[in-house]
Amino acid sequence: MKAAPHAQQRLIDLQELDSSLDRLAHRRRTLPELAEIERLEASLTELRDAIVAAETAVGDLDREQRKAEQDVDQVRSRAERDQKRLDSGQVTSAKDLSNIQNEITSLQRRQGDLEEVVLEVMERREEADARVGALRDERAKAQEELTALAARRDEAQRSIDDEAEMTRKARAGVAGDVPDDVLALYEKLRAQFGGVGAAVLHRGSCQGCRLALNTVDLNRIRAAAEDEVVRCEECRRILVRTPESGL
Ligand SMILES: [Zn+2]
Repeated sequence: MKAAPHAQQRLIDLQELDSSLDRLAHRRRTLPELAEIERLEASLTELRDAIVAAETAVGDLDREQRKAEQDVDQVRSRAERDQKRLDSGQVTSAKDLSNIQNEITSLQRRQGDLEEVVLEVMERREEADARVGALRDERAKAQEELTALAARRDEAQRSIDDEAEMTRKARAGVAGDVPDDVLALYEKLRAQFGGVGAAVLHRGSCQGCRLALNTVDLNRIRAAAEDEVVRCEECRRILVRTPESGL
């Protein structure tokens, strides 16, 4: 395969631009904002579930409170009814009077106990309410943070995309200077060898695989015509000679 020395140099320029594009794509994929957004979205999902659970608890306690209040009302009306009977003067038997009096006393005790229950449920309801409020605040904060992060991510991506666009334009210009068959080989090698298809031979070492070439290979490259496209025997990448190749 043949390519003028100038075209071979352009292959190295092309490699640098392609490596820049790879680095930009990697940076875009691994923006710290992306991991933070993922973490925040997960915690927002958890918060949503926690809010539903806390709201359900409030609803349950509401029902419990109403039930306890009804119990209090029931006991109170019964005591009132008893009191009216006493006040009416219609009950005359001493035994009945004493029974009614005893019932009123026991109903009052019962009412006191039930009122304690109401107070206790109200306290729990207040706590549950506060929990819903705290969770909603937390969710609002997380959503705000998410919005800010998304904006930062978009800005970072835009700047990467702008840089990539400029790099791609430069790449198109450089690629035009490389013969098609060399370009095709370069692309194939790039796909095969982690994005690096062409490397400089620098002081006897291939900059693609970082290995020093042996004397036989160096002699072979030294003997090759300057428009011959040579390859590294170790990694098979295209090797481009420069004045610093050590030949
Ligand atoms: Zn190599």
